[in-house]
Amino acid sequence: MFIRLLVIAGMLISQATFSQEKDLNLPDLGDRVSGVISLEQEKLLGQSFIEQVYAQAPLINDPIIQEYTELLIYRLSESSQVEDRDFTIILIDEKSLNAFAAPGGVIGVNGGLFLNADNEAQLSSVLSHELAHLSQRHFARRVLRGRDTNLASSLVMVSAIALALVSNNPTAFMTGPAALAQQQLRYSRIFEREADRYGFNNLITAGYDPHAMGQMFENMAKIGKLAGDNPPEFLLTHPVSSSRVSDALNAAGQIEFSGGKKNTINFEFIKGRLQARYVSLPPQSAVRYFEKLTQDNPTNENQYAYIEALKSNGSFAQALLRLEELLTKYPKNLILNMAKSEIYLADQKFDKANQQIDKVLNISPGNYPASIIKSNVLSAQQKTIQAEEILRELLISKNNDPHLWMLLSEIQRAGKNIVGYHLSQGEYYLLLGDLENALNQFQLALGLSANSFQTSELIMTKIKFAQDRLGQKRGL
Ligand SMILES: [Zn+2]
Repeated sequence: MFIRLLVIAGMLISQATFSQEKDLNLPDLGDRVSGVISLEQEKLLGQSFIEQVYAQAPLINDPIIQEYTELLIYRLSESSQVEDRDFTIILIDEKSLNAFAAPGGVIGVNGGLFLNADNEAQLSSVLSHELAHLSQRHFARRVLRGRDTNLASSLVMVSAIALALVSNNPTAFMTGPAALAQQQLRYSRIFEREADRYGFNNLITAGYDPHAMGQMFENMAKIGKLAGDNPPEFLLTHPVSSSRVSDALNAAGQIEFSGGKKNTINFEFIKGRLQARYVSLPPQSAVRYFEKLTQDNPTNENQYAYIEALKSNGSFAQALLRLEELLTKYPKNLILNMAKSEIYLADQKFDKANQQIDKVLNISPGNYPASIIKSNVLSAQQKTIQAEEILRELLISKNNDPHLWMLLSEIQRAGKNIVGYHLSQGEYYLLLGDLENALNQFQLALGLSANSFQTSELIMTKIKFAQDRLGQKRGL
C-alpha cells in the first residue's frame, strides 16, 4: 500500500505491456537516486517504519509461519534484482488481502494473502511484485521527483504510511497532503506496472509457473467484486483492471517453457495453519467445520487445518491420530514434526514434547521455530535457565525480533531473573521505538544491579544509547 503515496513523473514511462517487453533493460538509475536518498537513509526510514508497525499492528507471532515466509522471500530474492538482501519480513495478523514494501528492505504480508492464494506460485507472484518495488527503489525515485527531498519530511510521510497500514485505514494519511492523493495514485500505476514486469520475470527465473501471476490477479478481481464498496487495501493500491489480467496471462502464453513449479507441501500446511487461525467459530464448531471439509475434500491443507482445530479444542488424542496419518505420507516434513511436539506441549506431555522437538533439532540444528518450541517446552518444565540459553542463541542472529525479546523477558521473570527481565523488556521497547519505556526499563535494571559492576557497566551503555536516540528523535 505504501506505493500509493509515490509520486513520479515523466521518467521511465514505458507504456508497453509486459508481454511485449522481453528485454527489461531499463535505464540504470542507481547513482542519480543514491545522490538524493542514500541506501543508509532508506535503512533509517525503514527502521522508523518498522518501529511503528511493530508498535501498532497486530502481528502473527508464529515462528513456523515466519520461517516459511522468510525462506520463500529469500529464495525468490536470489533470482530478483534486489541487491541488499537484509530483509525485515513482517507478518500482519489480518485476514484481508494485503502486502507491502517499504524502504530499507521491509516486506509486509497479511495472513490473508496466503488465504487468497491457491498455491505457492500465486503467493510468490505477489511477493516478487513487492521485491520489485524494492529493487527498483520506487521509494527513492518518488522522493527524487517530489518536492520533499529532505529526510525529516520523508520520516513524516513514512509515519503516515505506517499509520494508514496499521489502522487498516487507507485514508488515514489523507490528513496530510490530501490534495496530492489522487495524483499520487495515478502516478503510482507506472510503478505498479513496472513492479508487475519485474515481478513476472522474477517468478519465472525462480522456476514458478508463469500463469500464476495472471491467476492471482483473477483471484483478486473476484475478491474485489465480492467486496463491493469496501475492497481490501491491496485492491485499492493495486486495482486489477482487465488489461492487467490479460497482460499477465498473455505474457505467460508467450513464455516458451511450459510447466514450472506450482505448489509445495509446505505451502499447503502453512495455509491450513492459517485457515485454522482465522476460522471465526468457537473451537467445537471449528472442529466440526474442518471435519466436514476434510471429508468432502481431503487435501493436505484441510487435513492439517482439522488437526490444528482439534488441538485448539483440546482434543489432543484425535489430533495426534490424524497427524500420524499425515506423517506416514510425509515422515520427514519439519512442519508436521514440529506440530506433533506442539500438540504434546499443549497436552502438557512435556517429556514427549521434548523428545519430539529434539528429533527435529537433530535433523535441523538451530532451526528457528523448532528452537522456540524447545524453549517453550523447557520453560513449561520450569527449566528456565536452559530455555533462556536457547533464546539467547537465536538472538545472536535475530536480535531485531521484538517477539524473541518479549519471550525471553517472560522466561526471565518466571526464573526470577529480574535484572534480565528489565533488560529484555528494554530491548523490546527499543525495537518498538518506545524510547521512554526502554529507558525506564534500563533504569529499573540499573537500580537492581548496584552490587555488580559488570552488569551496571553494560546497563549504563544501554541507557546512554537510549538517551542518545531520544535526543536525536527530538532534534529532528
Ligand atoms: Zn505494488
